[in-house]
Amino acid sequence: MLIMLGRSKDPPDFAIRRNIMVKELIHDPILLAKKSRPAGKEDLPIARDLLDTLAAHRETCVGMAANMIGKTCRIIAFDCEGKYMVMLNPEIVSASGEYETEESCLSLLGGPRKCKRFRKIKVRYQTEAMQTRLKTFSGWSAQIIQHEIDHCDGILI
Ligand SMILES: [Zn+2]
Repeated sequence: MLIMLGRSKDPPDFAIRRNIMVKELIHDPILLAKKSRPAGKEDLPIARDLLDTLAAHRETCVGMAANMIGKTCRIIAFDCEGKYMVMLNPEIVSASGEYETEESCLSLLGGPRKCKRFRKIKVRYQTEAMQTRLKTFSGWSAQIIQHEIDHCDGILI
């Protein structure tokens, strides 16, 4: 989960049109340090719950991985330039422009921590329709994706 302070959003419309299922957040470091298993079609309800939970925390949080709601499978949801996006089994296939930054995470106590990220990443993932996509992201979206993929690998900043 990547936190951004000082920004709030209108509720995304998916939260209005369906029943909302907000899950409680996990803070157990042992559970969060576990590497998540690959996600399959049967895990799609988790993606929906993740989007709902992310929307419920939109005031502070811009991305979440499924292990934050207690499901250790490789699904992430995040704010991609104002639109929520879900990825199953995201993996970075190439990256460039390494830089140092600071991030905060709701699952960690204390203030922001230093970490290294890449400005531009190419990500292979599956959509909610289980279609494989290859897409390039940069800047803030790329940073969120890198943070959430780390969660899938049990890595905390
Ligand atoms: Zn986090």
